[in-house]
Amino acid sequence: MTKHEFKSYTLNNFKEISQLDKLTLEQREAIEVVGHLLPFKTNSYVVNELIDWDNIPDDPIFTLNFPRADMVEADQYAKVKKLLDAKLERKELIDAINKIRLEFNPNPSGQDHNIPTVNGVKLNGVQHKYRETVLFFPSKGQTCHAYCTFCFRWPQFSGMQDFKFAMKEAELLFQYLREHDRVTDILFTGGDPMTMTAANLASYIEPLLADDMKHIQTIRIGTKSLAYWPYRYLTDSDSDDLMRLFEKVVKAGKNLAFMAHFNHSAELKTEAVAKAIARLRSTGAQIRTQSPLLKHINDDYNVWTEMWRKQVNLNCIPYYMFVERDTGAKKFFELPLEQCWNIFREAYQRVSGVCRTVRGPSMSATPGKIQLLGVTEVKGEKVFALRFLQGRNPEWVARPFFAKYDPEVTWFSKLKPAFGEEKFFFEDKMTNYFREAFDHSEVDNFE
Ligand SMILES: *Cc1c(COP(=O)(O)O)cnc(C)c1O
Ligand code: SF4
Repeated sequence: MTKHEFKSYTLNNFKEISQLDKLTLEQREAIEVVGHLLPFKTNSYVVNELIDWDNIPDDPIFTLNFPRADMVEADQYAKVKKLLDAKLERKELIDAINKIRLEFNPNPSGQDHNIPTVNGVKLNGVQHKYRETVLFFPSKGQTCHAYCTFCFRWPQFSGMQDFKFAMKEAELLFQYLREHDRVTDILFTGGDPMTMTAANLASYIEPLLADDMKHIQTIRIGTKSLAYWPYRYLTDSDSDDLMRLFEKVVKAGKNLAFMAHFNHSAELKTEAVAKAIARLRSTGAQIRTQSPLLKHINDDYNVWTEMWRKQVNLNCIPYYMFVERDTGAKKFFELPLEQCWNIFREAYQRVSGVCRTVRGPSMSATPGKIQLLGVTEVKGEKVFALRFLQGRNPEWVARPFFAKYDPEVTWFSKLKPAFGEEKFFFEDKMTNYFREAFDHSEVDNFE
């Protein structure tokens, strides 16, 4: 395959994208204005191979990468436009814009409450929320090949340092893992860890293959690179080194699992993505797929049916459908829970069992990952049936519970217990459980 040069476009150079002449003046202005609030970056592959430029502004991949005026409030738009027109000094502009950005709830669902410590040192690049799985945010992987307009992790790459989870000391991570042998999974996340070089990735992964890490059985990599830059696995200068690294992991007897983010079936249509998936699978790695449900991008069950079907045909395993969380341009992308469930079941009903490995719609909230099983009626009361797919307390998992039905509700925190009860069954136990199960000296700051 011929080598493909990665060319990225940001606010500094997006006007070089020749296809933008298909946009109106207002649409181009919106990229500049809203792009100062939401993360904005795209690249040559997305622009030339994924977006259908005859379908603007409705094209799902255009909406996934390019800021649009209706993603923010009218007064936010007006404020930023005024700031840009005033031609302020850079620092002044950034300070003013960061103030507006804080309105977007940059750290949703208590993510900053899961940070462990080793010898009294806070591991800022680690989250340990569920007993078996540790999340690691390598500091060199805190960017992506393109940015999603719905992203809730944008404070990590928009220069708002205070919100960064990144850490430099991989050694502290290894020490933490050695001391916690109930951990079976490590999940590299970001940003996108696949923006790192093969050599950097190897420096994090190879120590996990050593004898003192036998309890680590699965190494997961959360990545959007198959959708945004499949040439990462094909023609980048270190693509072959990557393959060798992955083969080594599999040979060491570990399960290597890519958690691949795909938001739309259009991301699976190119020759490049099919080849990248095949090459990655040939190392022995597995690929599981996940995506949030997003209005304007994939709020149609046909998109999901086609996406799951294509993924299975390409040898990927559908894994999670998420509800869009409470941050960023949520108003633009959010859907009522009932509608999420309707889209999920309409799609689920139309595929065979091989696609039904997917679970959803699921909300990643403070107590855990909560699946909406459906709307039903119990003792004459209309209710939502729910269950934990993951819980801070493993005992909560797979027990059905009920919330009051509300057709408007879009997020778990707005749900009330059904049958006039005051609390959900898990609410009293939240604090105590975590202390007992995780050796509280290692975990502070838990709400
Ligand atoms: C989803 C998630 C995991 C992994 O959960 P699995 O159900 O095992 O995929 C781990 N930690 C956090 C914080 C998560 O949100
Ligand atoms: S790939 Fe993931 S982390 Fe990167 S911008 Fe998209 S949602 Fe955010």
